[in-house]
Amino acid sequence: RHTVWHPFTQHALEPEPVRVSRAKGAWLERHDNRRVLDAISSWWVITHGHRYAPIVEAVHTQIDRLDQVIFAGCTHEPAERLADKLIDVAPRGLAHVFFSDSGSTSVEVALKMALGYWRNIGTPRTRIAALEHGYHGDTIGTMSAGARGVFNAAYEPFLFDVVRIPFPHAGREQITLDALDAACREEPIAALIAEPLIAGAGGMLIYNADTLAEMKRICERHGALFIADEVMTGWGRTGTVFACNQAKITPDILCVAKGLTGGSLPLAATLATERIFDAHYSGDRARTFFHSSSFTANPVCCAAALANLEVWENEPVLKRIGALANLQASQIATFESDERFENPRCLGTITAIDLKVADAGYLASAALALRTHFLAHDVLLRPLGNTIYVMPPYCTTAGDLALAYEAIRSAPDALTQK
Ligand code: PLP
Repeated sequence: RHTVWHPFTQHALEPEPVRVSRAKGAWLERHDNRRVLDAISSWWVITHGHRYAPIVEAVHTQIDRLDQVIFAGCTHEPAERLADKLIDVAPRGLAHVFFSDSGSTSVEVALKMALGYWRNIGTPRTRIAALEHGYHGDTIGTMSAGARGVFNAAYEPFLFDVVRIPFPHAGREQITLDALDAACREEPIAALIAEPLIAGAGGMLIYNADTLAEMKRICERHGALFIADEVMTGWGRTGTVFACNQAKITPDILCVAKGLTGGSLPLAATLATERIFDAHYSGDRARTFFHSSSFTANPVCCAAALANLEVWENEPVLKRIGALANLQASQIATFESDERFENPRCLGTITAIDLKVADAGYLASAALALRTHFLAHDVLLRPLGNTIYVMPPYCTTAGDLALAYEAIRSAPDALTQK
């Protein structure tokens, strides 16, 4: 039993996983033919919808041509064309693209690029600053940058120290900015890593674009690099292609993954400015950027990403996102006066709300009970503790959303009746 060991799953406590056999648009089809609304875009990856036709077609075409090739010493058209398109669509000033396979690896690459930069220019800086409540992945480096808690307690001795900058909650932005400035003055910071505008796995906590812009300015003033982790926020989630667009900033290093292929296949990219690349460009082999993985820039994944970028070019994706954002905003607004919940919030296509809970013990079990309740209503939602969020694919209709929010509205009573 449990031959398959699932991620973030306590097999001793959780029910059997949902067996999914097909998917189309915003819907998953279970083995028993029951349909489930994918209201979390299958862990925030699906953007246009499952099996989006142009992407599926590109995958078929590419796999018939070139399936995989080593990317050290070889190259191919899908990767080259994709890199050019990524530079075009990303905030202006990013000039080089390093491919990897997941959000975590894109962040590991970003941290290594930053540390390599300082070492290679001859003034080593090794201190990383990170935003409170951050989540950047589950590898040792990304866990180090992310918030500490029950999820990584076992690995604590192996995590490196970072300077933790308080989260810029509404009304407390200046505390964040002052803390960042003070940290930079105290000892040189190699890089600040942050999720722009919203801390995702840390509880869907939103902050404003002015603060993001000011954080970048403070980094610039002190020569610290700014790493934007747009693994979740990228590809339209926050209403613009990238969250950084709303603050009109270009990070020194940008991490993208998840929706890069429309969510169809695993691919990630770390984009860097000229000076980061230049610091590694040398007659001295020791300055090489020493990072690789077997499937770096897999041609089929690159073809899927290219097709995704062409969808962005050819279809009114931002308009669709705007329409979904409006639907989402009006749905979450109906919870404003619902005493059973608090902090309804919305950023682009993402909404979140906190279920009021009596005690911490209840909090621990609420997420699982909620998931079961939502599934009984044919909606896939995966609360973070008592924070319920909806992050659907962009093809989700008003009717689909109504189903999700009805399931949320009925959740507190269903749970207390248990
Ligand atoms: N960074 C952020 C902001 C994320 O939300 C995630 C995943 O949710 C990651 C990094 C890690 O991405 P992956 O799960 O693809 O490794």
